[in-house]
Amino acid sequence: MEQIQEKHKLENDPKRYMESEKERLWQMFKTECKDRQLVVKVSTAISQELTRAIQIYLPEKYKLGVMEYLEHSSGKGFSSKMSLHAWMLVEMAEKGNFISFTKYLSDPIQCIKTFTSEQIKIICSKKNLKNGCSRLKEIYDHKVREIITGLKQAINRLRGSGSTITMKSWWPTFLKEIGNMFCVKADIRFFDEDRDLDFDELIRYLLAELKGIEDTVIKDYDQTIISKIVPFCCQFVTEDLLKCQKVCSFCKALCEHVGGDDHHRTECHRPQGVGGYSWIESKNLMTELCINSVKAKHRFRNQHTNNEWVNYRDYRNVNDYYASWIIEPLDGESEKYWKWFMATYNTKLAQYYKCEKADIPEGWNDISKEEAIQEMKKYYNI
Ligand SMILES: [Zn+2]
Ligand SMILES: [Zn+2]
Repeated sequence: MEQIQEKHKLENDPKRYMESEKERLWQMFKTECKDRQLVVKVSTAISQELTRAIQIYLPEKYKLGVMEYLEHSSGKGFSSKMSLHAWMLVEMAEKGNFISFTKYLSDPIQCIKTFTSEQIKIICSKKNLKNGCSRLKEIYDHKVREIITGLKQAINRLRGSGSTITMKSWWPTFLKEIGNMFCVKADIRFFDEDRDLDFDELIRYLLAELKGIEDTVIKDYDQTIISKIVPFCCQFVTEDLLKCQKVCSFCKALCEHVGGDDHHRTECHRPQGVGGYSWIESKNLMTELCINSVKAKHRFRNQHTNNEWVNYRDYRNVNDYYASWIIEPLDGESEKYWKWFMATYNTKLAQYYKCEKADIPEGWNDISKEEAIQEMKKYYNI
């Protein structure tokens, strides 16, 4: 009986039990640690690779983010070529500095580019009073979060594909899932010790790593990235928004086309005095629109006609550039803006073009700057 009791005691003694199972438990513990270590190693390696890829990919994302914002949300004129142009004219009128008008008249496209770059800087630097962040910082953070969310969604979509997984089989599936979101290596060094991993465990670690990446990349924000954004957006505006950069030979109005046609035209020709045309005898700046002159059978001469008289209606015979413009012979009115401009800057404009002041038609002097600006804003929806 005592022997039986002793045996029972021995069998139920935890210390003794542990002693006898020591080796087996130690092996189990070591395997567990090894597996855990491998998951940590794998998720760290993936995290490093994703961080590298995000840092390469992110500038493209935030540059496009700024461009999208400018086009759709800034509430200003980046939505089209003519609204951008009109916005610039409005700003120039508000500042009321004739020097900036002369810069515009001598090179409207360069003027639009300079204006564009100034406005991008202003819009990007504008602070949100609620959180104290600049618009650019908000766009940057938003893009980082968008990338991280995309990665989390890709990882979550792969859940349920099995309880264990090897990296050799998971990594290509993951790359397929994130598509061509950005460029990550097809092979990472942890493949050397590839084994079955607990999938849920790996996902848990990866999601935690992604949160860490998000925090780190957001913290890495540097406001000097504006210096990369401005040239990018300016190039975009020049190539994709401005397209045709030709101006009317008579009034210097910008062609409204954005491509797809060899001919140039605008709905809004201006008094020709804006482009420097004056009457030969009186030398007064002209207030007639080019469309009026083409209809009224006036004549003109300049260096392009070798100073020979040409009928306005035959303007297309002067050279290929004149021929490329469609100027309909119409009775038309100038926009209020240019009437106001000529009336306001008559003396300065005459000095600039070295001729006499225009005979300002009745009513032009009565147009206020506000009225001129208002009409332009309404017409171009800015
Ligand atoms: Zn014109
Ligand atoms: Zn054109």
